[in-house]
Amino acid sequence: MQHRSTTIHENIARITAIIPHVKLIVVSKQRPIEDIQAAYSCGQRRFGENKALELADKYKVLPKDIEWHFIGHLQTNKVKHIAPFISLIHSVDSLKLMEAIDREGLKNNRVIDCLLQFYIAKEETKFGLDETEAIEILESESYKNHLRHTRIIGVMGMATFTDDVKEIKREFATLKKIFERIRQKYFSTAPFFRELSMGMSADYQHAITEGSTMVRIGTDIFKRDYIV
Ligand SMILES: *Cc1c(COP(=O)(O)O)cnc(C)c1O
Repeated sequence: MQHRSTTIHENIARITAIIPHVKLIVVSKQRPIEDIQAAYSCGQRRFGENKALELADKYKVLPKDIEWHFIGHLQTNKVKHIAPFISLIHSVDSLKLMEAIDREGLKNNRVIDCLLQFYIAKEETKFGLDETEAIEILESESYKNHLRHTRIIGVMGMATFTDDVKEIKREFATLKKIFERIRQKYFSTAPFFRELSMGMSADYQHAITEGSTMVRIGTDIFKRDYIV
């Protein structure tokens, strides 16, 4: 018989051992508080959620030194629930959203770090920008002259859910190229622009090979439901 939190510890230890230079975001969406506490008790401080209200509820009851990451599609009217404490929003996919985050940053007297989310997969269901849309944001009057309470520190993307390793690697390599081009053109003097958030349970090893700096892993950490 095995205790559930022991399994969470083992999974985190196994994963961190093979990703030493990459930041692990433990994706705790739909997981109970106890699971997050189990991961926290073995030293994990970065957690990712994809629903603003669920995240705000968890924030209230969990230790305040947790670094919270927002990884889902974010509606502009939900930004206010996470703006006071969010560490990084991975999923900026429009200027309108970025402006809403900036307004909430101003209200909370802080600068909110963001990633531009790119659409790199072959699936219709995934959100994100293409390179032209990203450039429209970066060249916009609003972004250049008015947004002072948001900061873009990199890019994020999700590969197609497939067994085709070549395709997965191609998509991650595409995101890395987009990242490099944007860095060169808009952030060449900005050392903070350095994050490449790519890789989930099924594909993080390929993402790391292609240059990921942050992996977002849920299932592979919480999957085994052993009961005492
Ligand atoms: C759920 C989710 C993850 C984690 O996926 P797993 O397969 O459970 O590791 C990562 N990124 C995003 C954007 C997600 O929604």
